[in-house]
Amino acid sequence: MNLEHLLTEEERQIRETVRDFTKKEITPITKELDSDYQLVEKVHQKLVDIKIQSGGYPVEYGGGGGLSHMTQCIICEELAKGDAGISQVILINAGMMVQPAIMAKNKVVLDRFCPPFCSGKLAYACISMTDEAGGCDTENPLLHGAGIKTTARLEGDEWVINGAKSWPTNGGIADLYLTVCTTDPNAGDEGIALIYVPPDAKGLSFSKPEKKMLFKTVVNSSIYYEDVRVPKEYRAAGPGMDGNFFKAATADAQWHSSVIALGIAERAFEIVLDYTGTRMGGFKPVRQHSIAAGIIADMAIGIEMMKAGVYNLSWMFDHHDEYGMPFEPEFVAKAAAVRVYCGDTAVEIINKGAELLGSMAISEDFPYEKCLRDIKETQLWLGGQQISRYRVACGHYELKNWA
Ligand SMILES: Cc1cc2nc3c(=O)[nH]c(=O)nc-3n(C[C@H](O)[C@H](O)[C@H](O)COP(=O)(O)OP(=O)(O)OC[C@H]3O[C@@H](n4cnc5c(N)ncnc54)[C@H](O)[C@@H]3O)c2cc1C
Repeated sequence: MNLEHLLTEEERQIRETVRDFTKKEITPITKELDSDYQLVEKVHQKLVDIKIQSGGYPVEYGGGGGLSHMTQCIICEELAKGDAGISQVILINAGMMVQPAIMAKNKVVLDRFCPPFCSGKLAYACISMTDEAGGCDTENPLLHGAGIKTTARLEGDEWVINGAKSWPTNGGIADLYLTVCTTDPNAGDEGIALIYVPPDAKGLSFSKPEKKMLFKTVVNSSIYYEDVRVPKEYRAAGPGMDGNFFKAATADAQWHSSVIALGIAERAFEIVLDYTGTRMGGFKPVRQHSIAAGIIADMAIGIEMMKAGVYNLSWMFDHHDEYGMPFEPEFVAKAAAVRVYCGDTAVEIINKGAELLGSMAISEDFPYEKCLRDIKETQLWLGGQQISRYRVACGHYELKNWA
Protein backbone atom coordinates (compact mmCIF):
# COMPACT_ATOMS: atom_id res chain seq x y z
CA MET A 1 0.00 0.00 0.00
CA ASN A 2 1.43 3.38 -0.95
CA LEU A 3 1.21 5.88 1.88
CA GLU A 4 4.25 7.93 0.85
CA HIS A 5 2.04 10.70 -0.57
CA LEU A 6 0.98 11.51 3.01
CA LEU A 7 4.57 12.47 3.96
CA THR A 8 6.30 15.76 3.20
CA GLU A 9 9.87 15.82 1.95
CA GLU A 10 10.97 17.04 5.38
CA GLU A 11 9.18 14.10 7.07
CA ARG A 12 10.94 11.65 4.73
CA GLN A 13 14.27 13.16 5.74
CA ILE A 14 13.37 12.92 9.45
CA ARG A 15 12.47 9.26 8.87
CA GLU A 16 15.90 8.60 7.34
CA THR A 17 17.63 10.31 10.27
CA VAL A 18 15.66 8.36 12.91
CA ARG A 19 15.97 5.08 10.97
CA ASP A 20 19.71 5.57 10.85
CA PHE A 21 19.76 6.50 14.55
CA THR A 22 17.87 3.32 15.48
CA LYS A 23 20.19 1.11 13.42
CA LYS A 24 23.35 2.66 14.88
CA GLU A 25 22.42 3.62 18.43
CA ILE A 26 19.69 1.17 19.52
CA THR A 27 19.54 -2.10 17.57
CA PRO A 28 23.16 -3.17 18.35
CA ILE A 29 22.56 -2.81 22.13
CA THR A 30 18.91 -3.83 22.64
CA LYS A 31 19.83 -6.63 25.01
CA GLU A 32 22.04 -4.39 27.18
CA LEU A 33 19.37 -1.66 27.24
CA ASP A 34 16.90 -4.06 28.84
CA SER A 35 19.05 -4.33 31.95
CA ASP A 36 20.93 -1.02 32.17
CA TYR A 37 18.83 2.11 32.65
CA GLN A 38 21.89 4.40 32.49
CA LEU A 39 22.42 3.19 28.95
CA VAL A 40 18.75 3.96 28.18
CA GLU A 41 19.29 7.50 29.48
CA LYS A 42 22.30 7.90 27.21
CA VAL A 43 20.14 7.00 24.20
CA HIS A 44 17.46 9.46 25.34
CA GLN A 45 20.10 12.18 25.71
CA LYS A 46 21.19 11.57 22.11
CA LEU A 47 17.56 12.03 21.04
CA VAL A 48 17.56 15.29 23.00
CA ASP A 49 20.73 16.31 21.14
CA ILE A 50 19.03 15.83 17.76
CA LYS A 51 16.21 18.05 19.08
CA ILE A 52 13.39 15.52 19.14
CA GLN A 53 12.52 16.16 22.82
CA SER A 54 12.25 19.95 22.42
CA GLY A 55 10.45 19.65 19.06
CA GLY A 56 6.98 19.55 20.61
CA TYR A 57 7.30 22.70 22.75
CA PRO A 58 6.42 26.29 21.85
CA VAL A 59 9.21 28.35 20.24
CA GLU A 60 9.07 31.02 22.96
CA TYR A 61 10.55 28.46 25.38
CA GLY A 62 13.23 27.34 22.95
CA GLY A 63 11.17 24.47 21.50
CA GLY A 64 10.58 23.52 17.89
CA GLY A 65 7.02 24.88 17.81
CA GLY A 66 5.22 21.51 17.82
CA LEU A 67 5.49 18.25 15.91
CA SER A 68 2.71 17.14 13.59
CA HIS A 69 1.21 13.74 14.31
CA MET A 70 2.64 12.45 11.03
CA THR A 71 6.12 13.52 12.11
CA GLN A 72 5.66 11.97 15.55
CA CYS A 73 4.31 8.83 13.87
CA ILE A 74 7.39 8.22 11.74
CA ILE A 75 9.74 9.01 14.66
CA CYS A 76 7.87 6.61 16.95
CA GLU A 77 7.55 3.89 14.28
CA GLU A 78 11.28 3.93 13.49
CA LEU A 79 12.34 3.96 17.16
CA ALA A 80 9.92 1.13 18.02
CA LYS A 81 11.79 -1.07 15.54
CA GLY A 82 14.74 -0.74 17.93
CA ASP A 83 13.09 -0.40 21.33
CA ALA A 84 9.39 0.05 22.08
CA GLY A 85 10.02 1.62 25.50
CA ILE A 86 12.31 4.31 24.13
CA SER A 87 9.76 4.98 21.40
CA GLN A 88 7.00 5.34 24.02
CA VAL A 89 8.94 7.65 26.33
CA ILE A 90 10.32 9.99 23.68
CA LEU A 91 6.86 11.14 22.58
CA ILE A 92 5.69 11.53 26.18
CA ASN A 93 8.73 13.76 26.80
CA ALA A 94 8.38 15.58 23.48
CA GLY A 95 5.36 17.69 24.33
CA MET A 96 2.41 15.28 24.64
CA MET A 97 1.76 16.22 28.27
CA VAL A 98 1.71 19.98 27.74
CA GLN A 99 -0.87 19.79 24.95
CA PRO A 100 -3.80 20.54 27.33
CA ALA A 101 -1.98 23.66 28.60
CA ILE A 102 -1.15 24.71 25.04
CA MET A 103 -4.77 24.29 23.94
CA ALA A 104 -5.98 26.19 27.03
CA LYS A 105 -3.29 28.89 26.54
CA ASN A 106 -2.37 28.37 30.21
CA LYS A 107 0.73 30.56 30.39
CA VAL A 108 1.37 29.87 34.09
CA VAL A 109 1.72 26.14 33.41
CA LEU A 110 3.71 26.61 30.21
CA ASP A 111 6.13 29.09 31.86
CA ARG A 112 6.68 26.71 34.78
CA PHE A 113 6.93 23.36 32.98
CA CYS A 114 8.24 23.90 29.41
CA PRO A 115 11.78 25.23 30.03
CA PRO A 116 13.37 21.97 31.34
CA PHE A 117 12.30 20.16 28.17
CA CYS A 118 13.95 22.77 25.94
CA SER A 119 17.19 23.13 27.91
CA GLY A 120 19.18 20.56 25.93
CA LYS A 121 19.11 18.19 28.90
CA LEU A 122 17.02 15.04 29.26
CA ALA A 123 13.71 15.71 31.06
CA TYR A 124 10.80 13.37 31.67
CA ALA A 125 7.03 13.93 31.61
CA CYS A 126 4.34 11.69 33.06
CA ILE A 127 0.60 11.18 32.64
CA SER A 128 -0.49 10.13 36.11
CA MET A 129 -3.82 8.55 35.29
CA THR A 130 -4.43 4.92 36.28
CA ASP A 131 -5.87 4.88 39.80
CA GLU A 132 -4.61 2.13 42.10
CA ALA A 133 -8.18 1.00 42.81
CA GLY A 134 -10.05 -0.10 39.65
CA GLY A 135 -7.46 1.18 37.15
CA CYS A 136 -9.62 0.75 34.06
CA ASP A 137 -12.43 2.79 35.62
CA THR A 138 -10.27 5.95 35.44
CA GLU A 139 -10.60 6.09 31.70
CA ASN A 140 -13.78 4.10 31.08
CA PRO A 141 -15.80 6.46 28.85
CA LEU A 142 -19.08 4.94 30.08
CA LEU A 143 -18.40 6.22 33.59
CA HIS A 144 -17.96 9.89 32.59
CA GLY A 145 -15.38 10.57 35.28
CA ALA A 146 -17.25 8.72 38.05
CA GLY A 147 -14.52 6.04 38.13
CA ILE A 148 -11.70 8.48 38.92
CA LYS A 149 -10.58 7.97 42.52
CA THR A 150 -7.91 10.66 42.90
CA THR A 151 -9.60 13.78 44.28
CA ALA A 152 -8.82 17.47 43.92
CA ARG A 153 -10.50 20.08 46.10
CA LEU A 154 -10.00 23.80 45.91
CA GLU A 155 -8.85 25.44 49.15
CA GLY A 156 -8.24 29.15 48.75
CA ASP A 157 -5.81 29.57 45.88
CA GLU A 158 -4.65 25.96 45.87
CA TRP A 159 -5.74 22.54 44.69
CA VAL A 160 -5.35 19.84 47.33
CA ILE A 161 -4.84 16.43 45.72
CA ASN A 162 -5.23 13.01 47.36
CA GLY A 163 -4.99 9.60 45.77
CA ALA A 164 -2.76 6.83 44.47
CA LYS A 165 -1.83 5.96 40.89
CA SER A 166 -0.40 2.68 39.59
CA TRP A 167 2.12 2.10 36.84
CA PRO A 168 2.49 5.57 35.28
CA THR A 169 5.39 5.67 32.86
CA ASN A 170 8.24 7.85 34.19
CA GLY A 171 6.71 7.76 37.68
CA GLY A 172 9.38 8.83 40.18
CA ILE A 173 11.75 10.30 37.57
CA ALA A 174 9.53 12.90 35.87
CA ASP A 175 9.82 16.69 35.84
CA LEU A 176 6.05 17.10 35.52
CA TYR A 177 3.05 14.99 36.50
CA LEU A 178 -0.14 15.66 34.56
CA THR A 179 -2.55 14.24 37.12
CA VAL A 180 -6.04 13.01 36.29
CA CYS A 181 -8.34 13.93 39.21
CA THR A 182 -12.00 14.36 40.03
CA THR A 183 -13.42 17.45 41.70
CA ASP A 184 -16.81 15.70 42.01
CA PRO A 185 -17.44 12.13 40.79
CA ASN A 186 -21.15 12.93 40.41
CA ALA A 187 -20.57 15.88 38.09
CA GLY A 188 -20.04 13.77 34.95
CA ASP A 189 -17.34 14.93 32.54
CA GLU A 190 -17.45 18.37 34.24
CA GLY A 191 -15.88 16.79 37.33
CA ILE A 192 -12.74 15.69 35.49
CA ALA A 193 -9.70 17.85 36.33
CA LEU A 194 -6.23 17.72 34.76
CA ILE A 195 -3.75 19.23 37.19
CA TYR A 196 -0.01 19.72 36.69
CA VAL A 197 2.11 18.74 39.68
CA PRO A 198 5.85 19.46 39.99
CA PRO A 199 8.12 16.64 41.24
CA ASP A 200 9.11 18.49 44.41
CA ALA A 201 5.52 19.09 45.61
CA LYS A 202 5.16 18.30 49.33
CA GLY A 203 3.12 15.15 49.91
CA LEU A 204 4.12 13.53 46.60
CA SER A 205 5.91 10.17 46.90
CA PHE A 206 6.69 7.15 44.75
CA SER A 207 7.08 3.40 45.01
CA LYS A 208 10.11 1.53 43.73
CA PRO A 209 9.91 0.87 39.96
CA GLU A 210 7.78 -2.14 38.98
CA LYS A 211 9.63 -5.26 37.85
CA LYS A 212 8.13 -6.49 34.61
CA MET A 213 8.74 -8.87 31.69
CA LEU A 214 8.31 -6.26 28.95
CA PHE A 215 9.02 -2.58 28.22
CA LYS A 216 12.07 -3.01 30.42
CA THR A 217 13.52 0.28 29.20
CA VAL A 218 10.65 2.17 30.84
CA VAL A 219 10.34 3.12 34.52
CA ASN A 220 6.86 2.50 35.96
CA SER A 221 6.17 3.36 39.61
CA SER A 222 3.17 4.05 41.80
CA ILE A 223 2.58 7.69 42.67
CA TYR A 224 1.03 8.75 46.00
CA TYR A 225 -0.62 12.10 46.65
CA GLU A 226 -1.12 13.03 50.29
CA ASP A 227 -2.60 16.52 50.58
CA VAL A 228 -0.44 17.65 47.67
CA ARG A 229 -0.98 21.39 47.16
CA VAL A 230 -0.43 23.23 43.89
CA PRO A 231 -1.51 26.72 42.74
CA LYS A 232 -5.02 26.80 41.32
CA GLU A 233 -3.61 27.96 37.96
CA TYR A 234 -1.96 24.51 37.58
CA ARG A 235 -5.32 23.07 36.48
CA ALA A 236 -5.09 22.81 32.68
CA ALA A 237 -8.31 24.74 31.95
CA GLY A 238 -11.50 24.19 33.96
CA PRO A 239 -14.77 22.23 34.16
CA GLY A 240 -15.81 20.77 30.82
CA MET A 241 -12.65 21.73 28.98
CA ASP A 242 -10.48 19.44 31.12
CA GLY A 243 -12.92 16.59 30.36
CA ASN A 244 -12.49 17.26 26.65
CA PHE A 245 -8.71 17.48 26.95
CA PHE A 246 -8.73 14.15 28.81
CA LYS A 247 -10.71 12.55 25.96
CA ALA A 248 -8.29 14.06 23.43
CA ALA A 249 -5.38 12.71 25.49
CA THR A 250 -6.92 9.23 25.44
CA ALA A 251 -7.34 9.45 21.65
CA ASP A 252 -3.70 10.48 21.43
CA ALA A 253 -2.64 7.58 23.64
CA GLN A 254 -4.63 5.10 21.49
CA TRP A 255 -2.82 6.45 18.44
CA HIS A 256 0.54 6.21 20.21
CA SER A 257 -0.09 2.58 21.16
CA SER A 258 -0.96 1.81 17.52
CA VAL A 259 2.25 3.33 16.16
CA ILE A 260 4.34 1.38 18.67
CA ALA A 261 2.55 -1.86 17.70
CA LEU A 262 3.29 -1.13 14.04
CA GLY A 263 7.00 -0.54 14.68
CA ILE A 264 7.40 -3.73 16.74
CA ALA A 265 5.54 -5.78 14.09
CA GLU A 266 7.75 -4.37 11.32
CA ARG A 267 10.87 -5.33 13.27
CA ALA A 268 9.50 -8.84 13.86
CA PHE A 269 8.75 -9.17 10.13
CA GLU A 270 12.31 -8.11 9.22
CA ILE A 271 13.73 -10.76 11.55
CA VAL A 272 11.45 -13.52 10.21
CA LEU A 273 12.17 -12.65 6.58
CA ASP A 274 15.89 -12.56 7.19
CA TYR A 275 16.17 -15.75 9.21
CA THR A 276 13.94 -17.87 7.00
CA GLY A 277 15.89 -16.73 3.93
CA THR A 278 19.02 -18.57 5.06
CA ARG A 279 17.82 -21.21 7.52
CA MET A 280 17.50 -24.45 5.59
CA GLY A 281 14.79 -27.07 6.04
CA GLY A 282 13.84 -29.84 3.59
CA PHE A 283 16.89 -28.81 1.47
CA LYS A 284 15.74 -25.25 0.81
CA PRO A 285 15.36 -21.98 2.74
CA VAL A 286 12.44 -22.21 5.14
CA ARG A 287 10.59 -19.29 3.54
CA GLN A 288 10.47 -21.08 0.20
CA HIS A 289 8.03 -23.65 1.54
CA SER A 290 4.51 -22.55 0.68
CA ILE A 291 3.31 -23.35 4.19
CA ALA A 292 5.87 -20.83 5.56
CA ALA A 293 5.28 -18.30 2.78
CA GLY A 294 1.61 -18.21 3.80
CA ILE A 295 2.55 -17.13 7.33
CA ILE A 296 4.98 -14.52 5.99
CA ALA A 297 2.25 -13.21 3.67
CA ASP A 298 -0.19 -12.96 6.59
CA MET A 299 2.41 -10.97 8.52
CA ALA A 300 2.84 -8.61 5.58
CA ILE A 301 -0.93 -8.21 5.13
CA GLY A 302 -1.37 -7.38 8.82
CA ILE A 303 1.41 -4.79 8.68
CA GLU A 304 0.00 -3.18 5.51
CA MET A 305 -3.43 -2.79 7.14
CA MET A 306 -1.98 -1.56 10.44
CA LYS A 307 0.11 1.00 8.61
CA ALA A 308 -2.87 2.23 6.60
CA GLY A 309 -4.86 2.72 9.81
CA VAL A 310 -2.02 4.39 11.71
CA TYR A 311 -1.03 6.80 8.92
CA ASN A 312 -4.67 7.63 8.26
CA LEU A 313 -5.21 8.40 11.94
CA SER A 314 -2.07 10.57 12.00
CA TRP A 315 -3.48 12.48 9.04
CA MET A 316 -6.80 12.93 10.85
CA PHE A 317 -5.07 14.42 13.90
CA ASP A 318 -3.29 16.88 11.63
CA HIS A 319 -6.48 17.96 9.83
CA HIS A 320 -9.03 18.94 12.50
CA ASP A 321 -10.87 21.13 10.04
CA GLU A 322 -11.85 18.05 8.02
CA TYR A 323 -12.10 15.35 10.69
CA GLY A 324 -13.19 17.15 13.86
CA MET A 325 -11.50 17.57 17.21
CA PRO A 326 -9.81 14.57 18.86
CA PHE A 327 -12.16 14.74 21.88
CA GLU A 328 -15.30 14.23 19.76
CA PRO A 329 -16.79 10.74 20.27
CA GLU A 330 -16.45 9.77 16.59
CA PHE A 331 -12.78 10.75 16.58
CA VAL A 332 -12.05 8.92 19.85
CA ALA A 333 -13.86 5.86 18.43
CA LYS A 334 -11.76 5.83 15.27
CA ALA A 335 -8.54 6.15 17.33
CA ALA A 336 -9.69 3.29 19.58
CA ALA A 337 -10.62 1.13 16.56
CA VAL A 338 -7.10 1.53 15.16
CA ARG A 339 -5.61 0.75 18.59
CA VAL A 340 -7.63 -2.45 19.04
CA TYR A 341 -6.89 -3.60 15.49
CA CYS A 342 -3.16 -2.87 15.73
CA GLY A 343 -2.74 -4.49 19.16
CA ASP A 344 -4.63 -7.66 18.25
CA THR A 345 -3.15 -7.98 14.75
CA ALA A 346 0.42 -7.38 15.89
CA VAL A 347 0.16 -9.92 18.72
CA GLU A 348 -1.31 -12.48 16.32
CA ILE A 349 1.23 -12.09 13.53
CA ILE A 350 4.24 -11.92 15.85
CA ASN A 351 3.07 -15.10 17.58
CA LYS A 352 2.57 -16.82 14.23
CA GLY A 353 5.93 -15.59 12.91
CA ALA A 354 7.61 -17.17 15.94
CA GLU A 355 6.70 -20.58 14.57
CA LEU A 356 9.00 -20.02 11.60
CA LEU A 357 11.99 -19.43 13.85
CA GLY A 358 11.81 -22.60 15.88
CA SER A 359 13.67 -22.38 19.18
CA MET A 360 15.43 -19.20 18.10
CA ALA A 361 12.11 -17.40 18.62
CA ILE A 362 12.56 -17.56 22.36
CA SER A 363 16.36 -17.50 22.63
CA GLU A 364 17.66 -14.60 24.73
CA ASP A 365 20.57 -14.36 22.29
CA PHE A 366 18.25 -13.63 19.37
CA PRO A 367 16.20 -10.42 18.95
CA TYR A 368 12.74 -11.99 18.41
CA GLU A 369 11.93 -12.75 22.04
CA LYS A 370 11.91 -8.99 22.75
CA CYS A 371 9.22 -8.50 20.06
CA LEU A 372 7.19 -11.35 21.57
CA ARG A 373 7.37 -9.75 25.02
CA ASP A 374 6.96 -6.07 24.22
CA ILE A 375 4.02 -6.44 21.83
CA LYS A 376 1.73 -7.82 24.55
CA GLU A 377 1.72 -4.44 26.30
CA THR A 378 -0.14 -2.86 23.38
CA GLN A 379 -3.19 -4.92 24.40
CA LEU A 380 -2.90 -4.26 28.12
CA TRP A 381 -2.42 -0.58 28.81
CA LEU A 382 -4.85 2.31 28.38
CA GLY A 383 -7.73 0.38 29.89
CA GLY A 384 -6.94 -2.68 27.79
CA GLN A 385 -8.69 -3.71 24.59
CA GLN A 386 -12.03 -3.97 26.41
CA ILE A 387 -12.25 -0.29 27.40
CA SER A 388 -11.09 0.64 23.90
CA ARG A 389 -13.95 -1.40 22.47
CA TYR A 390 -16.33 0.64 24.67
CA ARG A 391 -14.84 3.76 23.09
CA VAL A 392 -15.55 2.36 19.63
CA ALA A 393 -19.11 1.51 20.67
CA CYS A 394 -19.67 4.96 22.22
CA GLY A 395 -18.55 6.74 19.07
CA HIS A 396 -20.28 4.58 16.53
CA TYR A 397 -23.46 3.42 18.18
CA GLU A 398 -24.28 6.36 20.43
CA LEU A 399 -23.95 4.33 23.61
CA LYS A 400 -22.78 7.43 25.41
CA ASN A 401 -25.36 7.05 28.17
CA TRP A 402 -24.79 3.42 29.08
CA ALA A 403 -23.44 4.19 32.54
C1 LIG B 1 4.38 -0.55 30.45
C2 LIG B 1 3.22 0.17 31.05
C3 LIG B 1 3.08 1.53 30.87
C4 LIG B 1 2.01 2.21 31.49
N1 LIG B 1 1.98 3.58 31.38
C5 LIG B 1 1.03 4.27 32.08
C6 LIG B 1 1.06 5.70 32.09
O1 LIG B 1 1.90 6.35 31.46
N2 LIG B 1 0.13 6.35 32.86
C7 LIG B 1 -0.80 5.68 33.57
O2 LIG B 1 -1.59 6.33 34.27
N3 LIG B 1 -0.87 4.32 33.55
C8 LIG B 1 0.03 3.60 32.84
N4 LIG B 1 0.02 2.22 32.83
C9 LIG B 1 -1.07 1.53 33.51
C10 LIG B 1 -2.05 0.90 32.51
O3 LIG B 1 -2.60 1.88 31.68
C11 LIG B 1 -3.12 0.10 33.30
O4 LIG B 1 -2.45 -1.00 33.88
C12 LIG B 1 -4.23 -0.38 32.43
O5 LIG B 1 -5.02 0.70 32.03
C13 LIG B 1 -5.13 -1.39 33.13
O6 LIG B 1 -5.42 -0.99 34.43
P1 LIG B 1 -5.35 -2.08 35.59
O7 LIG B 1 -4.03 -2.78 35.44
O8 LIG B 1 -5.63 -1.43 36.89
O9 LIG B 1 -6.50 -3.08 35.20
P2 LIG B 1 -7.88 -3.38 35.98
O10 LIG B 1 -8.67 -2.14 36.16
O11 LIG B 1 -7.57 -4.19 37.17
O12 LIG B 1 -8.63 -4.24 34.89
C14 LIG B 1 -8.25 -5.60 34.60
C15 LIG B 1 -9.03 -6.04 33.40
O13 LIG B 1 -10.42 -6.08 33.78
C16 LIG B 1 -11.23 -5.81 32.69
N5 LIG B 1 -12.16 -4.72 32.98
C17 LIG B 1 -12.04 -3.73 33.90
N6 LIG B 1 -13.11 -2.93 33.87
C18 LIG B 1 -13.95 -3.44 32.95
C19 LIG B 1 -15.23 -3.08 32.47
N7 LIG B 1 -15.87 -2.02 32.95
N8 LIG B 1 -15.78 -3.80 31.50
C20 LIG B 1 -15.15 -4.90 31.01
N9 LIG B 1 -13.94 -5.30 31.42
C21 LIG B 1 -13.35 -4.57 32.38
C22 LIG B 1 -10.32 -5.43 31.55
O14 LIG B 1 -10.13 -6.56 30.73
C23 LIG B 1 -9.00 -5.10 32.20
O15 LIG B 1 -7.97 -5.29 31.32
C24 LIG B 1 1.04 1.51 32.24
C25 LIG B 1 1.15 0.12 32.37
C26 LIG B 1 2.24 -0.55 31.82
C27 LIG B 1 2.36 -2.01 32.05
